Amino acid sequence: MTGSTRCLIAGNWKMNGTLQESLDFIRDLAVNPAPEHVEVALMPPFTLLHSLEKPFEEKDVRLGAQSMYCEARGAYTGSISPVMLRDAGCHYVILGHSERRDIQHESNTLIRKKMDAAWEHGLEPILCIGEHLQEREGGQTHSVLKEQLSVLEGLTGAPALTVAYEPVWAIGTGKTASVDQVKETHAFVHAELQRLGHDCRVLYGGSVNPGNAEELLACEGVDGALVGGASLKADSFMQIIEAANSAED
Ligand code: PEP
Repeated sequence: MTGSTRCLIAGNWKMNGTLQESLDFIRDLAVNPAPEHVEVALMPPFTLLHSLEKPFEEKDVRLGAQSMYCEARGAYTGSISPVMLRDAGCHYVILGHSERRDIQHESNTLIRKKMDAAWEHGLEPILCIGEHLQEREGGQTHSVLKEQLSVLEGLTGAPALTVAYEPVWAIGTGKTASVDQVKETHAFVHAELQRLGHDCRVLYGGSVNPGNAEELLACEGVDGALVGGASLKADSFMQIIEAANSAED
């Protein structure tokens, strides 16, 4: 665990969740008070943010968004701004998720603009980085991660930041990186962050579930998890939170 910050378990609901489903989820989530060593956050779709601000606050769950645009307001049809996210009670915003990089063709340049806008408006970005299977098999993992982390070059000060290492081949596939791969890659990411002057938490993401969470979260250099599928059910999400709490004990 880096510094004294608690480990973070963040759930990314992606394009899932109606209002009723989200209220049922929060009713069933028994995390108040939150486990001693764990901070809990959830990133529902935009449509649910305002409705969930209060119920999440009551459960000590931090609210986050899955993406945003880099401008505060204006003629950007279909986009959501950092000002709107703050207004809805968000603390976090996920940026650079592989599904945005791959499906929406988001570039490093755009991601850096979004990060600057997030900081300007008081949001903490969770910057996702990760290699595709072909890149791992081709021995390019470090160069891919280094290039993705280069969005942090030239920053002054120490703005609030969390990084999530998510091998793309492990997202939503049921495959997870091995303990050795996780330890080695997190050590590389922490070293690269230090070189860039950003000592921050590095989460692991990619098919984390109640069965593998304890082993993954106990790895040196893993400061929490970004959880997709297993965050959709209160029961499995709570088991991951409990695993994180014991890993930190
Ligand atoms: C994610 O989308 O960030 C993710 C890690 O998804 P999953 O846990 O479903 O692999």
